[in-house]
Amino acid sequence: MNTPIKTLQTEPVGEFGDHRRERRFKQVTEHYPSRMGLFRKVYHGQASPRQCIKAFCLECNGWEEAAIRDCTATACPIWGLRPYQAQEKEEV
Ligand code: SF4
Repeated sequence: MNTPIKTLQTEPVGEFGDHRRERRFKQVTEHYPSRMGLFRKVYHGQASPRQCIKAFCLECNGWEEAAIRDCTATACPIWGLRPYQAQEKEEV
């Protein structure tokens, strides 16, 4: 006897086509509205690798630019690429 295949009922997935992205973007909207533009670009696949790294570090380190600049997790694979690093002063 063949058992009918059940399909999952899914709700509409919204702007980004992914429930997890929708949930995360809602959090960004509520708590870090200044980062909405960055996350929208990332989730639409329109962000540069640099912008994706920035979004990742912001999530990782509590949305604090200073915390990212002072991040001590040197074993992190993207540590050397993290944003907000102090620029070396050029010697004259
Ligand atoms: S560099 Fe630091 S802030 Fe960025 S992802 Fe790695 S651990 Fe997190």
